[in-house]
Amino acid sequence: MFSPDEIFELKSLFKIEKNIVIVPHKNPDGDAIGSCLGLSLILKKLGHDVQIISPNDFPKFLKWMPEAKKIFNAEFNPKGAEIAFSNADIIFMLDFNEPSRTDQLEKLIRNSDAIKILIDHHQNPEFFDFTYTDSDIPATCQMIWHFIEKMNWEDLTDANIATCLYTGILTDTGNFRYSSVKPSTHQVAAHLLNQGAEPFRIHDAMDSFGESRLKLLSVFLQNLQYFPEYRTAIFTLTREELLENGFQKGDTDAFVNYGLGLENVVFSVFMADDTQHDFVKLSFRSKGDFNTSEFANKHFNGGGHINASGGRFDDNLENTVKEFVNLLPQYEEKLQNTVI
Ligand code: 5GP
Ligand code: MN
Repeated sequence: MFSPDEIFELKSLFKIEKNIVIVPHKNPDGDAIGSCLGLSLILKKLGHDVQIISPNDFPKFLKWMPEAKKIFNAEFNPKGAEIAFSNADIIFMLDFNEPSRTDQLEKLIRNSDAIKILIDHHQNPEFFDFTYTDSDIPATCQMIWHFIEKMNWEDLTDANIATCLYTGILTDTGNFRYSSVKPSTHQVAAHLLNQGAEPFRIHDAMDSFGESRLKLLSVFLQNLQYFPEYRTAIFTLTREELLENGFQKGDTDAFVNYGLGLENVVFSVFMADDTQHDFVKLSFRSKGDFNTSEFANKHFNGGGHINASGGRFDDNLENTVKEFVNLLPQYEEKLQNTVI
């Protein structure tokens, strides 16, 4: 959490009306969108002018969230994003550890004179004017609640704010089931329910998806390659498979978790062609203390958390799979000895 002195400074900072820009990471997920929306709703109640600027679009299954339609897509309107950043007094960076995770917005962030505040739960953060980072907390949305409490803004929260924050906690904890979940996570969830979040409605909204997601799931599962000697499951989707089945952003989110359902598996990887660029996107999930973030960082230009991370590889899918499979022998002992 921010230090008491920082909280004191922040309280006086927000006493006067400010232009505030809030930025999530590229390809924002439920936690990124939930934390941006929850924070923006409360800052608006305090009388500030707030704009959420996303580096690019976000999945349809998150567009039901309160005020989600007001999120500005910088890819769609780069000039508008530039103007918003140049007018900003304060920039919040939520759910990412360093500005390169926002792609083209990095230079706008770095060139801005605004006060910069980072709130995030990934490892290896960069530090700004105010930095609240804790990789033991499973969701940035949980941190936003802790921040709200410290700022004495609880009385300003309402059902919409609670819904946004609850949604982010759900998505980043696999519905409260990952090992990262703490008693404090459930305590925050209870506060959010008290403020009006309705879990059954949120689950219904999140579980409703288009036909393309189901079709892609069937291809994804068919493409499983299981390496029992390395306790590893590999899944792939080619650009053709994605496009033939009507891929839309977010359709394959969380698919990689299926690999961990396979008995004995501790490491699951999903490699998919990017549909717009010439690289392969990788998603990693693990059980126990097998550190996927280190793995992603060392071999695939990425990072994240111990049990969930991502990266990319600048080659075709076939070569990416080869590269990955060739790395496995180095990790055989670690994988074999992982306790689950
Ligand atoms: P996902 O597999 O859902 O795309 O990402 C899982 C986690 O890894 C997320 O917390 C995300 O922020 C992080 N992550 C995904 N891709 C990258 C990447 O390319 N670089 C870094 N540093 N983190 C990533
Ligand atoms: Mn997150």
